[in-house]
Amino acid sequence: MQTSESTTIGNGFRTHTLSACEAMDRDDPLRALREEFRIPEGCIYLDGNSLGPLSRRAHERVRRTLEEEWAVGLIRSWNTSDWIGLPERLGARIARLIGAAPEEVTVADSTSVNLFNLAAACLRMAAPRRKIVTEQGNFPTDLYVLDGLSKLLPGVELRTAPREHVLEELDDDTALLVLTHVHYKSAEMYDMDEVTARARQVGARMLWDLSHSVGAVPLSLARAQVDLAVGCTYKYLNGGPGAPAFVYIRGDLQERLRPAISGWMGHAAPFELSDSYRPAQGVRRHRIGTPGILGMAALEGSLEVFDGVDLRLLREKSVALTTLFIELIEQECKGLGLELATPRDAAHRGSHVSYRHESGYEVMQELIERGVIGDFRAPDLLRFGFAPLYTRYVDVWNAVAILREILTTGSWQRMRARPRQAVT
Ligand SMILES: *Cc1c(COP(=O)(O)O)cnc(C)c1O
Repeated sequence: MQTSESTTIGNGFRTHTLSACEAMDRDDPLRALREEFRIPEGCIYLDGNSLGPLSRRAHERVRRTLEEEWAVGLIRSWNTSDWIGLPERLGARIARLIGAAPEEVTVADSTSVNLFNLAAACLRMAAPRRKIVTEQGNFPTDLYVLDGLSKLLPGVELRTAPREHVLEELDDDTALLVLTHVHYKSAEMYDMDEVTARARQVGARMLWDLSHSVGAVPLSLARAQVDLAVGCTYKYLNGGPGAPAFVYIRGDLQERLRPAISGWMGHAAPFELSDSYRPAQGVRRHRIGTPGILGMAALEGSLEVFDGVDLRLLREKSVALTTLFIELIEQECKGLGLELATPRDAAHRGSHVSYRHESGYEVMQELIERGVIGDFRAPDLLRFGFAPLYTRYVDVWNAVAILREILTTGSWQRMRARPRQAVT
């Protein structure tokens, strides 16, 4: 692994240096990909796990959609530019990134809406089983959507349990286990194969939320025999703010799963304009309304960046970046009030790292002011994302140097006087 290139002192204690970080950047097989992105000068962007940056390809693809397809093609572009086929075209590209077959994925709506739609459809299929199981502290929308669903459907019960006990909730009344593969706060990562197998053992369906995994962690939904999945495209996939989300349904389940929200775009023949609903074949039936083409165009451009990228190299670099960050914080910020909130073992974490700090909000505001963009997650977490497509090892070095300075000088304290931002 690339971190081994750092200077090793005689007793085995490793000291990282700026020149070792520069050498790692020179040797990085993915280094050319940074050129694909427009990252502002002087900005160290460590929030690609929340909103990926603009790529040149996404910019060009949106420009073409506006200037040629919309301005000139007008409504003809649904056919001539195949706007109508865009959701499944994007789905096929995402399928490679999650280890699924191209016809098992489509793109639509938001992760929240897709989660509702799939979970509700699954509950109908799984009757008389009535229980949904999920993790306490799962991403809020997952908890809220499942709670709302359980209150909407008679007899359905939602059980939440702490991470270490969640699998104990599985029983022969469980319809569905819903988990987020990489936790949005801690970055702790489940063993997808093992957990999916546990759900299967009791006859429950497995629904993974892949929002913090896709584009950073290689996945094989096929190998794990996952039933259902949803995920975001505006994080590591760089699809743009509020970009449409994806839906995965394993091939053999597609004909059995009737969408909860049966919209006209999921109809077998939308332009027959029939009074009665007849679901389309395959995953396409989980479309609801008219796809937002501008958002999809941005996503199409951003997915081109992944073409030909070896996902194992991506993961290797992600692990090297997060490992370097954790080791550098240990080296440079000892005794400065930071407490690691992410697994130290790289095999059990995704591509971000979180630290607790009692004034985490103000520290992050000061970091942002100084050009190091991460984010804050209540009540006390500083969160730093290390997207391997464009983050350099020197970025990690510089970010830690600035963090050290902020903590030693206490310059973050001036942020107490500022009103809290709406989005943290
Ligand atoms: C970011 C994220 C979401 C976001 O859902 P939206 O509907 O796009 O707002 C959902 N689930 C997880 C686990 C996330 O990390």
